[in-house]
Amino acid sequence: MYYHTLLTIIDKLPKELIESFDLYLARLTINQKQQIDISHVSIKLGIEYEVAEKLLNMCHKIKLVKKYPVIMCPVCERKIEETNYNNLYSDLKKDYFCSHCDEEELNVTTDNVYIFYKLLKKPDPNFNNKKNIEKKNNTKSIENKSFTQKILLSTEELYDFLYSPSEKNYDEMTKKLNSIDANYENTTDKGTSLNDLIIYLLNRCNPFKATKLVITETNQFDCTVVNEIYIDIEKVMPKESIGKISFLNEMGSIFLCECKNEEKTPKGTYFQKLHSILVQNKLTFGIIFSKFPPPTTYKILARETYLTSNIIIISIDKIDLEKIIIDKKNFFEIIKLKIIEVKTNSTTDLSSTELI
Ligand SMILES: [Zn+2]
Repeated sequence: MYYHTLLTIIDKLPKELIESFDLYLARLTINQKQQIDISHVSIKLGIEYEVAEKLLNMCHKIKLVKKYPVIMCPVCERKIEETNYNNLYSDLKKDYFCSHCDEEELNVTTDNVYIFYKLLKKPDPNFNNKKNIEKKNNTKSIENKSFTQKILLSTEELYDFLYSPSEKNYDEMTKKLNSIDANYENTTDKGTSLNDLIIYLLNRCNPFKATKLVITETNQFDCTVVNEIYIDIEKVMPKESIGKISFLNEMGSIFLCECKNEEKTPKGTYFQKLHSILVQNKLTFGIIFSKFPPPTTYKILARETYLTSNIIIISIDKIDLEKIIIDKKNFFEIIKLKIIEVKTNSTTDLSSTELI
């Protein structure tokens, strides 16, 4: 094999498929290695589009290829800008000019985003024998290929579009997560450590702007978050795709968070306090972040609160934070799951269902 890394996924897909994909990669030209697309793989390997997508996404996970979005011209469908998931949200708010067809002030949405993959690795040295690679490469140049298949962002990709921290961001979050367990001389510093982590995490979410400690005449909030999806959504996303992330609407244009870094189960009064602040401010969504898991009463209170006042309060504890930061689970998947739990009063584990 040319790319030995592929052996790590050999038990997840048919062996013949992995082998022909290995050869496919080895035969690509330098340019083609920079922009591999799902339909090309699907045609060349004679496999279903979904299988090709699964294969490429697996290769992205093992860091053989890197998945990246490209903004295409809505008029001529040629490349306008190569970007990354971290910047895509803000990029879609810009006005574009297409140098290919001279169209100006182009309004681009997620519908004009195509997904490509670039090969990150060179063939393993022992296998880099040119004799083994057929010289004549019969694959058509991807550059000149006209796109017959529009690649819409899937639900999973929409999550990445909303939240896609870099490795550096993950390192910083891990550091901050570890710091909530440190020994502090006073409770304020201890509390601040969790608050800092949460502000950092929320600000990694592309539609959110989170700020620490807003003090009003009557209250102080640990963390106030502006959910900009309200302002941006029609600019960046076509109506059909909005349904997939409609849970963001449940969070309202502003929501509040409480952070409790205590060495015990958070008190029931924290829930009631956050609830009353939300009511006073006509807000509809809140999150209680705590080190310890919430008491069972939170679930009952959350359900009652939702039924009586349409306010949703979810809780996120250290176990959830570890899933987000250490296991790199998408933060929005966790939020959506928690919202569904409150709304459906479910007692089953929803994380493995199709709802997410
Ligand atoms: Zn154009």
